[in-house]
Amino acid sequence: MGISNSLDELIERSPDLPWLDRASCGELELHQLDLFFVEAGRTIASSTVSLCKKCPVRRECLDHAYQHDIVSGYFGGISPGRRRVLSHAQALAELLGDSPA
Ligand code: SF4
Repeated sequence: MGISNSLDELIERSPDLPWLDRASCGELELHQLDLFFVEAGRTIASSTVSLCKKCPVRRECLDHAYQHDIVSGYFGGISPGRRRVLSHAQALAELLGDSPA
């Protein structure tokens, strides 16, 4: 399995991702999706974090990042740095513990 590292590649694959239809970020313009791909060392906007936190497909988004070895971008509201140190199961537990009831 190759490593996906770019937003363009994610968008190219989007027909295979039916859950994207229900994503909170689905209403954003394409150029706004850069919000999820901040440079290393930069802090993601709190509005972007909030968007992910209430997203109904947050789990699918996180699963996608792990299943496709995506090393950049916020997926499921979990930063690439956190994904590097957490296993898929650990990241999922973090996501579930952080989700609104
Ligand atoms: S969790 Fe965030 S990046 Fe993933 S689909 Fe939802 S809003 Fe988009």
